[in-house]
Amino acid sequence: MELKEPDQAKAILTNNFKTKFEKRKIRKMKSFEIPSLFKSNLIGKIKEYRRLNDKLKRDFSPSVFDFGPIEILLSRHFGFCYGVENAVETAYRILNENPDKRIFLLSEMIHNPAVNFDLLERGVRFIQDTTGNQLVNWEELSSQDIVIVPAFGTTLEIQHQLQSLGINPYAYDTTCPFVEKVWNRATSIGQKDYTVIVHGKPSHEETKATFSHSQSITPTLVLKDIREAQSLAYYIRKEKSVESFFKEFEGQYSKDFNPTTDLERIGVVNQTTMLATETQEIADYLKQVFVDFYQLEKEDIQSRFADTRDTLCYATNDNQSSTYSLLNEEVDFVVVAGGYNSSNTTHLVDLCMERFPTYFITSSENLLSFQQIKHFDNKSKEEKLTSNFIPQKDKVRIALTCGASCPDAVIEGIFRKLVSYFPTAKDVDTLVGKVVGLEL
Ligand code: SF4
Repeated sequence: MELKEPDQAKAILTNNFKTKFEKRKIRKMKSFEIPSLFKSNLIGKIKEYRRLNDKLKRDFSPSVFDFGPIEILLSRHFGFCYGVENAVETAYRILNENPDKRIFLLSEMIHNPAVNFDLLERGVRFIQDTTGNQLVNWEELSSQDIVIVPAFGTTLEIQHQLQSLGINPYAYDTTCPFVEKVWNRATSIGQKDYTVIVHGKPSHEETKATFSHSQSITPTLVLKDIREAQSLAYYIRKEKSVESFFKEFEGQYSKDFNPTTDLERIGVVNQTTMLATETQEIADYLKQVFVDFYQLEKEDIQSRFADTRDTLCYATNDNQSSTYSLLNEEVDFVVVAGGYNSSNTTHLVDLCMERFPTYFITSSENLLSFQQIKHFDNKSKEEKLTSNFIPQKDKVRIALTCGASCPDAVIEGIFRKLVSYFPTAKDVDTLVGKVVGLEL
């Protein structure tokens, strides 16, 4: 993947996303009551201060806290998004209201270990793991059980499975409206006889759900990156055989997909948490393939290539824009917090790794000491130990952020632990209180 310059990327994020309608919708979004164990007074006050001083969300620069020997640059936007707060509030409300019922989640509520662990502790059971392996057999469920659909949504096949067991799949459905927006976009493209190309991770719950809904309307294919888009170009130009298409894209195309006829008109949607720049690169590339192959004039492009903006959600846009602003700063390293299987978080890690040493951790427990950090390596997909991660210098500058599924309490824990490694650092509450103009 070719990363864009921060300013280029920010332009893509701004241009693609915020229509007046979406801006209005976001401003009117309701607030949710989430359990106090996920909240943080410290982080909540910082967010409130930034929100009040930037109601139109124009400023993506980080909040800077100078404790003397350590300076923390906290990303402008991070943490629980609309869809996650909605899902978390619903799950805990259902738990409180139904003490005598068995409660299941189709899979992880969100991709965050702290939230999932707490739900499991309270007796909730997951029916599938994140890759779709069955943890609870369908036959074990009865119509008396409660089944919660997570924020990612679910497939039509699973909805039918639940219905066949007498369980209403819409009764406790926390599918994020921004995911449903993608399904609606795919439907509207499909109804105009375009094949839908989904830019997403084929094994991610959300992409599987989008694929399922889209393929019920129109031929659908999932592409995970620009390399796959480049491979697809051979089939659009009819330069490679049908057999090799089925081999190359195994598991990623819809039933009865015909590469000869189903790649003559396409439209692109994406998983809501992909990198905006990568989706743009894929859409631009595929559009050009059509223009060149069919010798299209500007006014004819839409006959072959549906005009779609990306379908990233507002939280992905805000978090990626804020990360690009962080990358304009000079820091010694970045700490990104979140679940290792969280798509939106791993994209933030990928962006940060291009510029600074980056440590991807789940909580403050990964900060083993001033000298050692246990972190996830996005490339090898393994946790590893790094020594001397904090450089020896008079002032250390650390950037801190997290994805849309990470509780504020986790960020506060990391924030405080980092400062605690510097005995001469100013007091956290006093300094932050001064910056945000409040006593904490
Ligand atoms: S990341 Fe976006 S699409 Fe996913 S739950 Fe949050 S708001 Fe919804």
